[in-house]
Amino acid sequence: MSSTLTPAAASTDLRGYVDALAPRQGVWIDGRGSAAQAGATFAVLDPATGSEITDVADGQVPDAVAAVDAAARALPGWAATAPRERSEVLRRAFALMIAGTEQLAALMSWENGKSLADARTEVTYAAEFFRWFAEEAVRTEGEFGSSPAGGTRTVVTHKPVGVAALVTPWNFPAAMATRKIAPALAAGCTVVLKPAGETPLTALAVARILAEAGVPDGVVNVVPTTDSAAVVTAWLEDPRVRKISFTGSTPVGRVLLRQAADRVINASMELGGNAPFVVAADADVDAAVAGAMIAKLRNGGQACTAANRLYVHEDVVEEFTEKFGSAVAALKVGPAFAEGTEIGPLVSARALDGVTRVVDAAVAAGARVSHRAQLPAGLTGYFYAPTVLRDVPADAEILRTEIFGPVAPIVTWRDDAELLGLVNGTEFGLAAYVYSRDLKWALQTAEKIEAGMVGVNRGTVSDPATPFGGVKQSGLGREGAREGIREFQETQYFSIDWS
Ligand code: NAD
Repeated sequence: MSSTLTPAAASTDLRGYVDALAPRQGVWIDGRGSAAQAGATFAVLDPATGSEITDVADGQVPDAVAAVDAAARALPGWAATAPRERSEVLRRAFALMIAGTEQLAALMSWENGKSLADARTEVTYAAEFFRWFAEEAVRTEGEFGSSPAGGTRTVVTHKPVGVAALVTPWNFPAAMATRKIAPALAAGCTVVLKPAGETPLTALAVARILAEAGVPDGVVNVVPTTDSAAVVTAWLEDPRVRKISFTGSTPVGRVLLRQAADRVINASMELGGNAPFVVAADADVDAAVAGAMIAKLRNGGQACTAANRLYVHEDVVEEFTEKFGSAVAALKVGPAFAEGTEIGPLVSARALDGVTRVVDAAVAAGARVSHRAQLPAGLTGYFYAPTVLRDVPADAEILRTEIFGPVAPIVTWRDDAELLGLVNGTEFGLAAYVYSRDLKWALQTAEKIEAGMVGVNRGTVSDPATPFGGVKQSGLGREGAREGIREFQETQYFSIDWS
């Protein structure tokens, strides 16, 4: 595939790439794809047009069980594989993914709707988890200590937790998969993955990259399905499954935590967010605008870390709103493969309905549309024009729920105490952003914000080397960094008579 995808190239080369994934045989078990046992398939849609891309195997409970059979069979061998060897496999997966950036990015754009630029960035981010955990695979140190009472020495080790069930969302279909698969494999676990129904093709592409990189059969298994609850419940009820790692919405996370409680399964939860973006009176407004464009509009606003509420100090709110609003209004909206597209469609008709509803409610409650981008004529997909709202009432629903779209509500703030009350007045606590030239104030404010991650004079917080995750109802556990591999390990110690 050429390095620049024109629409024509997208429709020809990409069709071949999708067909090569053999999606109707998309239940990926033991290193090969097969049809769902019941023979069912489901349609994957192009959000830019609403038309069907392809059918994908619709896995059900028997497929879910077969996936665990394979993962359980492969577990002893993979867990016993030398860390260096596991590391080399992950390193090869990194190289293969980077080499295939254009194809994978185009595929993601097609099934998810994100712009090609966003998709390329995601491929890099996704691949980095393979590289990072290739490096971590060989650094699982333990501890050695002596008991305070004397006569005893303690050796602490970390072992693979076992078969891990992974459940991922559609908004970062490659990165949310690799952020789990890479640490799981580095730790010596085998996995069963259920991708989101909107974006199963990317997961199948990732599975093939891993197979090509040398991952043994059965170590990575993928079950696309329209019946997520049945498949994941089968896994959570299976005594061979020892771990659930979920990324998705808080309501679904709660359901899975309740289910995990029945067998006391080790659970990691990366859930929803409601990130505040704070601009102080002394902020570099141009830098804050540039940061807000990323924090709000990366991935069309469909990111768990997306700035959901912009709190701008009254001294700079006019200047910020004008500059940010002008930049938003100038965004080029369109299908990913059209020349210069910066913002693609939302992922589905349901997502479009949700964003439309929450914006309409905010306007009915008194918010004003200060700037809005143009939607080109003739679009048939799930497009929402990037929009800036101001004078948003402090109790508006749009400030309490994840917008998950290219809409920026601006709220004016005046003093620090008021600001912290607004910022922390949510059950979410994933990401936050603070802009100020006074680094001491920025860091003191960041410390007081109830969030797992704070960008200080930066509009992005995602980095494979950092512990990604939330507090409050945004989740449990961390992905990436040193912590990421620990989520897939059990700690064991030996208490040794040393007398
Ligand atoms: P979602 O919760 O609807 O779905 C996530 C996954 O769970 C999908 O694979 C879905 O098919 C599956 N699922 C849905 N119901 C299920 C059930 N009853 N049992 C088992 N599985 C079920 O979320 P989404 O719409 O795909 O993604 C958007 C959400 O994900 C947002 O809330 C966003 O903030 C969150 N998210 C969080 C992070 C993070 O790292 N914290 C990253 C990306 C997305």
